[in-house]
Amino acid sequence: MPGPETIRTTNVVAAIANGPKDPFEIATCTLRAPQAGEVRVRVHACGICHTDLAVKIQHIPIPMPKVLGHEGAGVVEEIGPGVTHIRPGDHVLMSFGSCGECGNCRDGALGYCDHFRAINLFGDRAGGSALARDGKELGGHFFAQSAFATHAVATARNIVKVDHGLPLELLAPLGCGIQTGMGSVMNVLRPQAGTSIAVFGVGAVGLSAIIAAKIVGCSTIIAVDVVPERLRVAQELGATHVVSGRAENPVVEIVDLTRGGAHFSLDTTGSPAAVANSINCLRARGVSAQVAAPPRGTLYSAEASVVVGRGITIRGIVEGDANPQLFIPRMVEFFRQGRLPLDKFVKTYPLEKINEAVDDLEHGRVVKPVLTMREIGSVA
Ligand SMILES: [Zn+2]
Ligand SMILES: [Zn+2]
Repeated sequence: MPGPETIRTTNVVAAIANGPKDPFEIATCTLRAPQAGEVRVRVHACGICHTDLAVKIQHIPIPMPKVLGHEGAGVVEEIGPGVTHIRPGDHVLMSFGSCGECGNCRDGALGYCDHFRAINLFGDRAGGSALARDGKELGGHFFAQSAFATHAVATARNIVKVDHGLPLELLAPLGCGIQTGMGSVMNVLRPQAGTSIAVFGVGAVGLSAIIAAKIVGCSTIIAVDVVPERLRVAQELGATHVVSGRAENPVVEIVDLTRGGAHFSLDTTGSPAAVANSINCLRARGVSAQVAAPPRGTLYSAEASVVVGRGITIRGIVEGDANPQLFIPRMVEFFRQGRLPLDKFVKTYPLEKINEAVDDLEHGRVVKPVLTMREIGSVA
């Protein structure tokens, strides 16, 4: 039996989450070589998603210290045994992991994998974490990647090849946030052309839903948010109307704008008040999509006479019900055609400035911060 000292490692620079109140710490760590079914990716860029922050502040309680980051993009450096469709030099986006064996995975519903929490949040990996610091194991493999680092070990299942020459720093967030917004509209709500939709919370996920609603031909697209700058961006990207989340009664405004209630709504905030509004603003037989991950134990309330009397459907959605291998190429094509203008809401920061990027995100100064590892990772 080979001892642990015989496992090859690479030095990597990573941003480490030590605890809720500590800033991310930039430090050199070691990353083990990929094992069967895995690849090592030289990370070029990684988006920051609210789930990263929810874990750091322990709204989702995961042991620390840990390397987060789950919207990675980069270049494959090395493949482990049994990896067949990926080669070193391939450009890839990293998405969420799934087991491939459970009933939901076999049914193509990867976001509902029986092992979703274990694989993605807890970073379960055969043989333990691939990351260590000063010889001590460090929590890794977050969403089967941990991409707030210059290099990441991912699995062949959760990476998607993209053509060379595409800007990886813009495409990185397709792996989670953009997929969640666009997929919820295109895979689940599937609005017919000419219908109406109200989107509550227009950060990266909500804006992606608005872009998707525009592509599929919704005629009334209402953005609801408390940040005026975000509402401005939403209008630029396809919202036909905006409603301030601080308005006295957003529901009345939406019912007016849609002449009797929206056909569809989508809440990205997880705030119980916004969720209630997203249900109450619907017309009869309307469908409300819920995609946020609020703190555990959060309860939503809805009036029975509304839900039953109007025949409302309330649908929870993970990762836009997307199979990343199929859905990411579709989003890339929309990007190529100029219909998914990521440059309008992505802002890049070098990895070392992660704390500044998080602060900007939390204060509404940026919609989608993306960390770049170019200088320290230097992509070929
Ligand atoms: Zn995410
Ligand atoms: Zn599964």
